[in-house]
Formats: sequence, C-alpha cells, structure tokens
Amino acid sequence: MVVIMKVGASERQIQQASHELERLGFKVHRVDGVMRTILGAIGDKRGIDPQRLAVLDGVERVVEITKPYKLASREFNPDSTIVSVGGVQIGGPELAIIAGPCSVESEEQIYRCARLVAQQGVRLMRGGAFKPRTSPYSFQGLGEAGLKLLRAAADQHGLYIVTEVLDTTHVDTVAQYADVLQIGARNMQNFALLKAVGRCDKPVLLKRGIAATLEEWLMAAEYVLDGGNKNVILCERGIRTFSDHLRFTLDVGAVSVVKELSHLPVIVDPSHAAGVRTKVIPLALAGVAAGADGLIVEIHHDPDTALCDGPQALLPEQFQLLMSELDLVAQAVRRRLVRHYGSTQSYAQSY
Ligand code: PEP
Ligand code: MN
Repeated sequence: MVVIMKVGASERQIQQASHELERLGFKVHRVDGVMRTILGAIGDKRGIDPQRLAVLDGVERVVEITKPYKLASREFNPDSTIVSVGGVQIGGPELAIIAGPCSVESEEQIYRCARLVAQQGVRLMRGGAFKPRTSPYSFQGLGEAGLKLLRAAADQHGLYIVTEVLDTTHVDTVAQYADVLQIGARNMQNFALLKAVGRCDKPVLLKRGIAATLEEWLMAAEYVLDGGNKNVILCERGIRTFSDHLRFTLDVGAVSVVKELSHLPVIVDPSHAAGVRTKVIPLALAGVAAGADGLIVEIHHDPDTALCDGPQALLPEQFQLLMSELDLVAQAVRRRLVRHYGSTQSYAQSY
C-alpha cells in the first residue's frame, strides 16, 4: 500500500501518518519526492481499511500495489528514480555510460583502460576484481589487489568505479573501493548477497539473470530496496533463448516494459549479450533506442591479450565510434549524451 501525502503536507502530518502505519504493523519506506512525500507501507494489509488512512491529516490518497514487488514498482513511486554516483546521474535526461575492461588484469592494463574511458568523456569505469567464471580453471580476478589498482587508475582520471561483488563475505571489502556494487547475472537470485548489498550505502547495479523473468528480476531488486538501499540500477544483459548466433539474446523489449513497471533506472549491457565486438555497437544503439538510461560496455586497449571476454571488448577506435553513433541515437530519442572531461592527475602513475 502507498500513502500519498498532499503537496505541502507538514512534517508533523507525515510523521503522524507514518506512526499510524507502524502502529498497524507496517514497515514504512519514506520517499521525499520533489513535489510530495510518499509512504510505502509493506506488510499484511488484511483487515485494514485503506479509508482509515485516507482520512488522516495531510493524506491525499491511498493506493494499493497490485504487484508482488512493491518498492520497485511504479505504483509505489510514479516518478523515475535517479541514482547519483558522485556527480553522475543514472536515470535522468543524460545517458549514463559505464565503460572499461571485463576484468582488472594488471597495473598497466587498468591504467591504459582508464585513460581510454576518460578520453571519451565517460566518468564511470567498470572492471571486475572478483570474476564469476564458468570454469574454475579460468582467471578468477585479482581480488583485493585488483580493487586497489582499479581505484588508483580511476582516481588518476577522476572516474567512478563499478565492480562486481561475488560473495557476501566480500561486500565490505568491495564497498571500500567501489562507487557502485555490481551483482552479476549468476547471482541475481543469491538472496543472502542481495540482503547484504541492501544494507550498504553504495548504489547497486543489478544484472538480470540469464533465465529470469521480469518479475523475478524486480523481486530481486525488491530485496535490495527492502534492505534500505534505494539506489538500484537494473541492467539487461541478454538472456538464454533458442537463438544461438550471439552469446545471449538482448531483450530490448524488456527495457521498455521494465521502465513501465518500475521507477528504477534501466541500463543495457550489449557486450555480454553480443559476445563478439562487431555486434556490440548495434545492440548498444538498439538498447538506447528502446529507452535504456545508459550502457555498460566492455573495452580494452589490447583485447587479444585480455584474460577474460577479449572477443567482445571494443577496440579503442570502436569505443570512439560507439560514442559518436550514440550521440545521434540519443538525440533521436530526446536524450543527451554529455562528455565530461575532468582533470587528470599528472603526478600519478601514467601509461
Ligand atoms: C561482467 O559484467 O563481467 C559479467 C560477468 O556480467 P554478467 O554477470 O552479466 O555475465
Ligand atoms: Mn565480462
């Protein structure tokens, strides 16, 4: 149930409505919007007459949420959520671009990649230090040493970091270095991990599982939101279908549907969907055309030497091309692609 307060309701009225909901046994999630405050009431509403709440001072109306996911639904919050990472907004009019290698491999590699990211005016950098690999014999990531390198390389260019957390035991360590915590596709229903990142104060990028329905995906987001973390970014990264010409099938339709079902920002990962670099740009453009709020894309200064996902990493010149093509699509769908050029620290390690 959502209790929508009147525009201009006083703090005392908001508190009173909130206390009344708590007294009735609900857990209250408060959202202070630009115009008004809304109180999400999660709990058993059997035997409670919503009219009883609708007549409280300062309350405009009470809406019942019909979906199993509550906090993630648009019924709960009709205004789109904008997640801020430093000065970068995800879910606003500007497209948010996250770029970087699949994994952190070495000091030289991550510094080179950070430079490529910054040169395109992109401020969010990806890079995995803990890697979920199909084979236990594949490169598993550099762990905390990788996080340190990632942080240092990002700091040199004033970039923010998006990196994956694989395990509940690593949440605190990853959160120490990262600006956004990524939950990978394989972990979308790792409920212990979702609860753990729900307690964190860092935004969470939640990838869709490779066989997850939209409802399962939004229920996963609900775990994070219910934990108190309101900054969830959804990421469509391709699902398993019978079509086997690309690594996964990018579900562009899902982008548009999820934007309708939920107020959370949705971005697209064209790299893991494509599996090959020649198809990354078309999928990226399709995602943005379908209404995605941004992209997370893999790039590498020398993909032939990459320890993970080299074939799908964009070459530096392809990354540059992607950015200029994106500019055109962004305009067509009335979004903005703004390049941000910060100051690079010249005294730090440089490659
Ligand atoms: C990744 O981003 O490198 C990754 C492993 O993604 P996914 O969980 O979508 O496969
Ligand atoms: Mn990857």
